[in-house]
Amino acid sequence: MFPNMILHFDVERKKSISAIEKAMSSNGKMFMVAQKNVKYEDPDGDDLYSVGVLVTVKQVLKQMNNTIKVVAEGNFRAKAVKYVKGDDFLRAEIVEMPDVVCECEAQSEALLRTIEKLFLQYLSLLPKTPKDLALRFPVDGNIGEITDYIASNIMLGFEGKQELLSIADPVCRAELLVDLLSREIKIIGYELDIGLKLQKSLDNDQKEYLIKEQIKFLKEELGENSVSEADEYRKKLDKLVLPKETYEKFWKECNNLSKLPSSSSEANILSTYLDICLNLPWNISSDDSVDIKRAESILNSDHYGLKDVKERILEFLAAHSLSEDLKGQIICLVGPPGIGKTSIVKSLAKSIGRKYVRISLGGVSDESEIRGHRRTYLGAMPGRIMTAIKQVQVNNPLILFDEIDKLSNDYRGDPASALLEALDPEQNSEFYDRYVAVPFDLSKVLFVATANDKDGIPAPLYDRMEVIDLCSYTNEEKFQIAKNHLIPKQLKRHGLSKRQFSISDGAINSVISGYTREAGVRELERNLSSLMRKAAKSIVDGTKKSSRISEKNLEQVLGAVKFKNKIIDKGERIGVANGLAWTSVGGELLPIEASLMPGKGEVQLTGSLGDVMQESIQLCVSYVRSNSKKLGINKNFYKDYDIHIHAPEGAVPKDGPSAGITILTSLVSALTNIPVCDNVAMTGELTLKGRVLAIGGLKEKVTAAYKAGMRKVLIPSDNISDLEKVDKSVKEKIEFIPVDNVETVLSHALTREI
Ligand code: ADP
Repeated sequence: MFPNMILHFDVERKKSISAIEKAMSSNGKMFMVAQKNVKYEDPDGDDLYSVGVLVTVKQVLKQMNNTIKVVAEGNFRAKAVKYVKGDDFLRAEIVEMPDVVCECEAQSEALLRTIEKLFLQYLSLLPKTPKDLALRFPVDGNIGEITDYIASNIMLGFEGKQELLSIADPVCRAELLVDLLSREIKIIGYELDIGLKLQKSLDNDQKEYLIKEQIKFLKEELGENSVSEADEYRKKLDKLVLPKETYEKFWKECNNLSKLPSSSSEANILSTYLDICLNLPWNISSDDSVDIKRAESILNSDHYGLKDVKERILEFLAAHSLSEDLKGQIICLVGPPGIGKTSIVKSLAKSIGRKYVRISLGGVSDESEIRGHRRTYLGAMPGRIMTAIKQVQVNNPLILFDEIDKLSNDYRGDPASALLEALDPEQNSEFYDRYVAVPFDLSKVLFVATANDKDGIPAPLYDRMEVIDLCSYTNEEKFQIAKNHLIPKQLKRHGLSKRQFSISDGAINSVISGYTREAGVRELERNLSSLMRKAAKSIVDGTKKSSRISEKNLEQVLGAVKFKNKIIDKGERIGVANGLAWTSVGGELLPIEASLMPGKGEVQLTGSLGDVMQESIQLCVSYVRSNSKKLGINKNFYKDYDIHIHAPEGAVPKDGPSAGITILTSLVSALTNIPVCDNVAMTGELTLKGRVLAIGGLKEKVTAAYKAGMRKVLIPSDNISDLEKVDKSVKEKIEFIPVDNVETVLSHALTREI
């Protein structure tokens, strides 16, 4: 306590409380003095300083815990001359210690200024001291009062304060205060220094942590929680065994993802990308075991006939399992639709324990379909190959490129070259899909392709392929396939038992000949399944318990017969020769008719004839003109007559050079009036010099001749080797005449010699 100071304090000691109560009961005056050592609970005079302050107790507040709160104001300095011990409290005999007025004004002014400056400096160093301390400064107080004010308001040990209190001379007191204040300022300066250093080292330690925490907080505020999503991908990535570059690329993408706001479209695109890429079977392979015996039995049990094909496939497998060098070879099955190409490839996959996936290439003209779109492209996805790999979840499946001959190319790039990269063993260990954007190893994949037409296969692909031809089936083969494979398969699919559905052999044959016209058995299968559907319906609705299909009731169930055998004009005919055509559904008899009428040598062509066929006709006319003498024809026939050549079923487009000898025969017959044999069919390309050249699709063509009831078929000599593939039953019924020139053709085709 200093004079002129108001102090709030709690009092607990009984003696002190009684003292205050005593004071309050009179004028409130009381002597307050500090205790030298706070340890003593019941101090006597010796334990107290002698200089203290006479105070007026302003307020007393009793509290719950038997203590009182006191507000007191210091009046003046006083010195206890004597302490007297009482029962209730200590008493003291005191004398006032008034401030001595300073005689040297300049000295006191200088001291005052110094003190003031130091005090402000002191306050500036302690930011937490109340701001109004400086404001409450007793502006016109004398040096003694100011010293007391400062002494009571600075943080000083009580000994220091007691020392100040003890000095009655204001100048001496002020001088001591200057000392104490400057010392205090120095100490605070040091303290701040140490504090700063401490703070700095603390800062360095915690800086990183704090920054991280702040970033996390800010990201949460922005709704960016993709940190955890990216972490998930990182975890997934760490489980894969990847080439270094691939790993780094994905790692980088994970980092990119963690920086993006999770709701942004970029984050969406990136996480779809990582989802697709990290779920690719980078290291997953299925066990593949090439057991030729087992493969053979599976192929045989799934497919009737196709002996050649099965053998070629087995040879290929055997060679494949022995030599690494053959890995680049690709089997390509070529043949008309519905002939079992796809299904035999499926069996092949089953027989060697590989997963099977089919990529249909029909109509693909855009390279990106195969190789994917770059991720920057809107709605980008991986290409078909990588999609297939993702779908099967192994890196060694059997991939079937279906209809490889139907690939086309346009301004959007060449899909064949992308396929080539996938198929080429030199390149396919690093197949680059634009979407995935890192190489993927396709070298373990077994590729197989199918095509309807060899000529449609892009040349660079064709070079890499081991082509296996599949020919159209004869009716006998179709019958066996239907009986042994299609019917049991469809019965199972329709949930019918053999007792519930049966079909007679005659009805099967009728379905083949009357309701289908095809090289394969797809249409046949569809018709059989339609019969079974109808049977199932009548069983379910309770009309019948079982269904038996015979030749008699077939029409009733399937409707009117769709294909009747072509009515072939029998008897000797002038100007009509039987050609043979090869179409996508197999072979067909193609009659060519020639008529003459008086005119000026114009040649008329009808029957949807293609360019090549029209050229063939011109060639035949030229041949006849140049050989008119030999053929016994009026050499001016082209001046006197118009010639009309027609191929019936006018709406069906026809083309190709193989009708050459047929056109010539019909033309010569019309010009010479010698009829053509009605049981002879022929096929062969003609040269201007009268030579007969080889043609394609012999098996299909002679099968058609057989079905049409022909007895003799003229074939180019160069095609004799193809007869090997022709069915035995056909060979038994038909006489094959190899021809290599016009003379032989005419001698066999016309009913008499020219
Ligand atoms: P492609 O691929 O040649 O167009 P698919 O493989 O789709 O023909 O064959 C059509 C249907 O004919 C399939 O159900 C298939 O099982 C069947 N099939 C074809 N040939 C045979 C065969 N030789 N033995 C058994 N089923 C066959």
